[in-house]
Amino acid sequence: MKMHKEHLKQASVQKYKEDAKHKEHVKQASIQKYADDDSHRCKVKQQTKTRRENLKEENKQITEVIRKFKDAVQKGPECVCSCCLRLFFEKQVLICKKGSYDNSIYDSCTTEKYKHTCTDDCNTHCAFEGTCRTSLWICYTCHRKMMKGKIPADSFSNGLMLEDVPLELKQLNAIEQQLIALNIPFMKIMALPKGGQKGVHGPVVCVPSDLKKVTTILPRSEDESLLLKVKLKRKLNYKGYEKYQFVKTKPFGASTCVFKG
Ligand SMILES: [Zn+2]
Ligand SMILES: [Zn+2]
Ligand SMILES: [Zn+2]
Repeated sequence: MKMHKEHLKQASVQKYKEDAKHKEHVKQASIQKYADDDSHRCKVKQQTKTRRENLKEENKQITEVIRKFKDAVQKGPECVCSCCLRLFFEKQVLICKKGSYDNSIYDSCTTEKYKHTCTDDCNTHCAFEGTCRTSLWICYTCHRKMMKGKIPADSFSNGLMLEDVPLELKQLNAIEQQLIALNIPFMKIMALPKGGQKGVHGPVVCVPSDLKKVTTILPRSEDESLLLKVKLKRKLNYKGYEKYQFVKTKPFGASTCVFKG
């Protein structure tokens, strides 16, 4: 008997989830009952009140508050919004369902780029298994805009998609990066009072650099594995240097090609 009751309950939950018409019907009936039935309304109000009071009581206990906080920050911001591609905590996003939005809006402003779908390359126990990366998320800001049939301002489809960094540039060290930079930005960076983050103070000045000079001054060699020692100085006649590192000439040539191409 009990099993049957449980079974019915499950079926009803399932129907509510899947059948939109049924869901709307149940919602309307519930609103109607709340409006018409005085005793029902009192009961609901009382339940809400008790729940709020319990929560208030719970929050007075500092250990409980700490536990809740630790729970909330246990996972970092790991969920990528499929529309604005920002990182969010799990609480700030919901599962992105195609059916919730207008088809053309959905197709034009969501991407599965950051959703992990297992391929043959994955091990039997994929590292992404059971993590946020296997679902498609959407943040509330984008969700609300898309529900209204509009393209969210922050959507990647508004020309905000960042290209992947080419392999030639990925493997450069700090001094190599500096040598091939088309513009060298100068800015005042200071530690922010809270959160251990850094902020930029004042204007950023971009100084264009002459790549031709760099590529002609550095010696060229047939040997592709040649390493050069390069010192980066604030001024050429200074003794001291800012950075002193090896520079690979092979990927270096390739990386300048990336810019030209
Ligand atoms: Zn049954
Ligand atoms: Zn978003
Ligand atoms: Zn996988």
